[in-house]
Amino acid sequence: MIALSIPGYQDIMLENLVLDFNGTLASDGRLSGKTRELVNEIAGSLKVYVLTADTFGSAARECAGLKAELITIDRDNGGPDKEAFVEKIGADETAAFGNGVNDVLMLARAALGIVVMGPEGCAGQALARADVVVRDINEGLGLLLNPVRLAATLRK
Ligand SMILES: [Mg+2]
Repeated sequence: MIALSIPGYQDIMLENLVLDFNGTLASDGRLSGKTRELVNEIAGSLKVYVLTADTFGSAARECAGLKAELITIDRDNGGPDKEAFVEKIGADETAAFGNGVNDVLMLARAALGIVVMGPEGCAGQALARADVVVRDINEGLGLLLNPVRLAATLRK
């Protein structure tokens, strides 16, 4: 569990982390060593899920050894599929990371939605519905490991 106590915002007790794969966790379908380290560190506190339609066909290989459960979502119904998954595991105790149009619903639904504006860019709608915007995935994962920084961003 990771507890976020944010003045003027809701207190959040996170139990789950949901990560979109392509463009969020991975760049061009590849996962960096640093990202892998951070995810595995967070996995000591949260249950981690990686959601993907596997556009590049690399998700299973790239996620080998990652302390996360790989969930394949529907290629044509990704948005509602991702939102339904977050609801199933408990949206109020879930942080979600995404970058695309099919992440908009889950970013809005999760207790904490973080949009990653990385090398592949992010959808404008995703930017608008997220709680926090980060420039790369490692910075975003770092916020979960350093919740005081997150509180400074979100406090009213
Ligand atoms: Mg994506």
